[in-house]
Amino acid sequence: MMTNDILYSIQDLNVEYETRIGALKAVDNVSFDIQKGEILGLVGESGCGKSTLGKALLRMIEPPGIITSGKLLFDGLDLMTLSTSRMRKYRGSRIGMIFQDPLTSLNPVQNIADHLTEAMLTHGMYSDEKEVRSHAEELIDRMGIRPERIDDYPHQLSGGMRQRVMIALALALNADLIIADEATTSLDVIVEAQFLDLLRELRDEFNLTFILITHNIGVVAELSDRVAVMYAGQIVELGTVYEVFKDPLHPYSQGLMASVPNIRLDEGDTLYKMAGEPPNLLHPPQGCRFHPRCPRVMDICSTESPTFRAEKEGHFVSCWLYEELADEVKRVSGTNS
Ligand code: SF4
Repeated sequence: MMTNDILYSIQDLNVEYETRIGALKAVDNVSFDIQKGEILGLVGESGCGKSTLGKALLRMIEPPGIITSGKLLFDGLDLMTLSTSRMRKYRGSRIGMIFQDPLTSLNPVQNIADHLTEAMLTHGMYSDEKEVRSHAEELIDRMGIRPERIDDYPHQLSGGMRQRVMIALALALNADLIIADEATTSLDVIVEAQFLDLLRELRDEFNLTFILITHNIGVVAELSDRVAVMYAGQIVELGTVYEVFKDPLHPYSQGLMASVPNIRLDEGDTLYKMAGEPPNLLHPPQGCRFHPRCPRVMDICSTESPTFRAEKEGHFVSCWLYEELADEVKRVSGTNS
């Protein structure tokens, strides 16, 4: 169950990729907190930086990428200060990650029992091999996989089962936080629904915290407590799922919500199509990065960046429509948005 205790505080995080033609800023000055026991959805178009942000939370950015600055305060400890070897241990034991294709994370020549027992023995959680095997079977059973399949190899399991094995690995090490990056994208709708049910049950049973990175707004609406909307490397809106879906504040979030298929649409109704393309992050637009596509753009938007701030309790947005300075500009210029 979500509490007000902060598990992970991300402060002024910046990630860049060095390219031959300059630095590409994939994550730009991102700050937010993750509360213990919550499911936080992170949504945005492809290329908005959400996967890079997920990897940065685990310090898994590889060259030519680099975390240029920021603090990653996990349970009060700044992960940026850990050595590479301490970070590797931390990554396995406190924070787990599930990718779209778990085959890339599982060793094809190890069966599932080997994956689980090796992880638990390496992290010193058990010394008795029979005991560790028995715990591994319990975990697999809890994931809805018959325990006798523990001797199967990754390629013998379905995509949904492999995702469950990845969660079992995180649970085996008592991880507090699991980051799932497009984890349901390759699953069919029935397996996806079962997987989402399992995440919800595990959150309630083990007080686990999840970050769901996805472009699927429906998955976020179904499962998350809060949602962060990302655009061009920045979080532009953050709030409870109820607030953001019922009353999205940022024009980009409004466009995203309006473009979701809805069974209440009448015949002949069309879905909203957002104008334009996401910007090239090598040369992002000045001011608000959404201004070339924004239906409510004002003069100030193309020159000054809005700040990310609370518009209502627990509902944050980065947009000049909600800033006092914009009100001042509108009064002086006589415009009315
Ligand atoms: Fe649109 Fe301006 Fe708000 Fe950006 S700051 S989203 S351009 S109104």
